[in-house]
Amino acid sequence: MAGFGAPNDSYVVNCAGLQADRIARPFGFSQHYTILPFKGLYLYSDEPAGSLRTNIYPVPDLRNPFLGVHFTVTVDGHAKIGPTAIPAFWREQYAGLAGFSLRDLAEIARLQLGLLFSAGFEFRRLAVEELAKYRRKHLVSLAGHLAEGVRVEDYRRWGRSGIRAQLLDTRTKKLEMDFVLEGDDRSMHVLNAVSPGWTCSIPFAGHVANEIARLRGGRGYPAGDLARPRPAG
Ligand SMILES: Cc1cc2nc3c(=O)[nH]c(=O)nc-3n(C[C@H](O)[C@H](O)[C@H](O)COP(=O)(O)OP(=O)(O)OC[C@H]3O[C@@H](n4cnc5c(N)ncnc54)[C@H](O)[C@@H]3O)c2cc1C
Repeated sequence: MAGFGAPNDSYVVNCAGLQADRIARPFGFSQHYTILPFKGLYLYSDEPAGSLRTNIYPVPDLRNPFLGVHFTVTVDGHAKIGPTAIPAFWREQYAGLAGFSLRDLAEIARLQLGLLFSAGFEFRRLAVEELAKYRRKHLVSLAGHLAEGVRVEDYRRWGRSGIRAQLLDTRTKKLEMDFVLEGDDRSMHVLNAVSPGWTCSIPFAGHVANEIARLRGGRGYPAGDLARPRPAG
């Protein structure tokens, strides 16, 4: 979370990921949104470094908010496949019972059950598809659609999990697929920033800065300006 401006002219920028919706509420925002956490795991290859030369991405299924299984070359040159996007039971369920929250568990159980029974086929399809990826063999077979010679015996090690802060619109019961920003002249809240990637995170930061400038009556920054170094002083 960041604040800028003079002390009596302060401005709050909330980019708190998994907690962004909760931080936004006392400011009067995120009134019909909540974060649904999804756990993302990768499977690591035991093949020698350099076996995979480049990242391989699938054509995304536009019905899903998640990109789908892909290959990544890690910094030490090894391959990993994933991630999964399995519903988590509490927001910071990274490992074991660490970060356990009864409040999260109750809220998420209620939301997930509601979505399974009332949000129609789409959420059920997504949940079934994603849960199946917990099976190593299945995850490897999905990766096998993208490259030749992908063998289940090479992929044995699960990595540490990440948790995706996926925003749910509680009125429409839809998972938000795009960036969601809410704010005014006092605060700005980044509620959904699911996959900014290298190519889009800097322009997105520029967009957020522009929105803040616009809401505060300023002229905004020309697109792309934030990506360039500013002269000192
Ligand atoms: C397994 C996995 C794979 C992914 N793969 C990709 C990918 O290939 N490409 C891609 O573009 N995106 C990917 N993503 C998504 C990407 O990681 C997120 O979209 C991105 O990190 C969101 O950025 P953010 O700054 O909004 O939130 P975060 O990166 O979650 O940052 C939020 C920060 O706020 C802090 N915070 C929380 N609460 C408070 C508080 N009360 N006070 C102060 N600080 C607080 C947290 O500690 C954290 O540092 C992946 C995510 C996962 C889980």
